[in-house]
Amino acid sequence: MSIAIADRLHQAIEGRAEDLAALTLDLVGIPTLNPPGESYLGCCELIAARLKASGFAIQKLRAVGTPGDCDPYPRWNVIARREGARPGDCVHFNSHIDVVQVGAGWTTDPFGERRGDRIYGRGTCDMKGGLAASIIAAEAFLEVYPDFDGAIEISGTADEESGGLGGVAYLAGEGYFDPARVQHVIIPEPLNKERICLGHRGVYWTEIETFGRIAHGSMPFLGDCAVRHMGAVIRKMEDELFPALAARRTEMPVVPEGARQSTMNINAIHGGEPEQEQDYTGLPAACVPDHCRMVVDRRYLIEENPDEVRQELVDVLAAVEAERPSLRYDMRDILHVPPTMTPRDAPIVQSVSRSITSVLGRDPDYVVSPGTYDQKHIDRIGRLKNCIAYGPGILDLAHQPDEYVSIRDMLDSAHVMALTLTDLLTGGTDAARRAAT
Ligand SMILES: [Zn+2]
Repeated sequence: MSIAIADRLHQAIEGRAEDLAALTLDLVGIPTLNPPGESYLGCCELIAARLKASGFAIQKLRAVGTPGDCDPYPRWNVIARREGARPGDCVHFNSHIDVVQVGAGWTTDPFGERRGDRIYGRGTCDMKGGLAASIIAAEAFLEVYPDFDGAIEISGTADEESGGLGGVAYLAGEGYFDPARVQHVIIPEPLNKERICLGHRGVYWTEIETFGRIAHGSMPFLGDCAVRHMGAVIRKMEDELFPALAARRTEMPVVPEGARQSTMNINAIHGGEPEQEQDYTGLPAACVPDHCRMVVDRRYLIEENPDEVRQELVDVLAAVEAERPSLRYDMRDILHVPPTMTPRDAPIVQSVSRSITSVLGRDPDYVVSPGTYDQKHIDRIGRLKNCIAYGPGILDLAHQPDEYVSIRDMLDSAHVMALTLTDLLTGGTDAARRAAT
């Protein structure tokens, strides 16, 4: 790219610093708390009004009937699209608009407060700062290249923090991430401005239930204790499965480092009579529990076979059953998302990588997320593989008290995003150089 054009893009971004800060504060001021899924429409309308003024066509879509959608808490999404002068690729920036509960421990205003270079508030880092950066990037790009090829899309979507079923999964199901319609996706999650996130580990949740027979607690030999059966299942896991998982290492560049192995969490366990209300003062009854339920959260690696991930839990149960003939059990799958990792030679990875080198003067770090995010729906339902997460903000601050995003980081990320648009929608840097000379 010529110095003149690079300078104009740089100035277009830097000249919007105050606008970027104000937009972030406006977005954070809308309490899009999830659960329950508050104020989604208001946030979509703010994004819509802003991008309509920048020449985007707006669609607002309610994910009617998805989990959580109801009249008090409708699941609204917004998609804005700006067509270029000629046919070409479409670059899509997808941000979730929902934020997690505020929680305790704040010393700043959880709905937006500026202190120097930082904007504090719930959702500043995760991920309204990234959304604001993508809007500023698109607007700066349009100022310098009004005559671009292809199209730009910016979406604000619901419910990422609770699985994304009323957000990206819904839109993907409606065809909005069809590779014939969208060719490149950037999700501006807070992965730090020098990192490209290629994907995530797999997740498999299942509920295991063991059954016994109720009897008087003073004569347990007349019953069959479902909790002891579950104890045997956990012992088998401790002896065999947990050590086997810890020994499996991955080539995926997962951060933090501790997640570069297979992991399993026992998410919840309950057996026997239901827990009473906290103000209940009575004593428990003497009973042998006839059922026990456990939720298992298994995170797995791209090197592992998804069928085997399930099968090895089935094998644990079968092995325990062989030792405990009275054991009866059930296993119910709750959620299964295979791992995904966009290849490093994918066009969006290459383009953002070049932009990071140009803006920050260093090569990017490539990372993979330990948990899933909306890329799973774009990959699986949308069948679009050319997708990454890239955005400003320090990942560790997400969901914490005094969450913040740095204005400088947002500007740098916006610059990376705008350069990526230039690369993908103006015939590349060579064409830009030719045009400028
Ligand atoms: Zn997020």
